[in-house]
Amino acid sequence: MSNRTITITDALYDYLIEQSLREPPVLRELRAATAELGDIKRMQIAPEQGQFMAMLVQLTGASRLLEVGTFTGYSTLACALALPEHGEIVACDISEAWTALGQQYWQKAGVGNRIHLKLGPAAETLKTLLAEGQADRFDLMFIDADKGGYDTYYELGLQLVRPGGLILIDNVLWGGAVVDANSPDKDTQAIRRLNAKLAHDPRITLSLLPIGDGLTLARRNDQP
Ligand code: CA
Repeated sequence: MSNRTITITDALYDYLIEQSLREPPVLRELRAATAELGDIKRMQIAPEQGQFMAMLVQLTGASRLLEVGTFTGYSTLACALALPEHGEIVACDISEAWTALGQQYWQKAGVGNRIHLKLGPAAETLKTLLAEGQADRFDLMFIDADKGGYDTYYELGLQLVRPGGLILIDNVLWGGAVVDANSPDKDTQAIRRLNAKLAHDPRITLSLLPIGDGLTLARRNDQP
């Protein structure tokens, strides 16, 4: 035993999944359909992360969600299933093909009417939401898109999420690459810059969890 986070071996991961994953059949089907897309399936979140995010939706009582980077809509569906009846998600992505796959399963699960898909560059969509008076109107945001855009999405998100609301940021450990300060990879550098900024950002309360590929929880503070 130790006072640092445990190392997850393959055997321990399998145990964790066997003993705690309660993946609804429709989410399992969407995961299988996404796997058929080939290597790109890596862009989908881990199922235990989806289950954790759904619990966060329930714990926070969130009813208005914002997602940047929907892909085939697994995280979208996991969260939509956890929403109250009147809840809704604004889901942003640039790919009609990926989100069309997700939409089939959103409909099948009976929550398609809770998800409003916005196709196009997310930064533009978020600015449009602000222009429409949506500042402080979202309870929870999930950022999981192009890493070069993360800082922009985070800054716009801090305006769109209400005080006390939560911003979740995915892939913040980037397969472990973030420890290399000299990495020439632009995505690695973008994630490192954002992580370093959030570490001392007084506007938020912070927790970085080693679930999936690393998930940051940033709660917007009530006072700036
Ligand atoms: Ca991701």
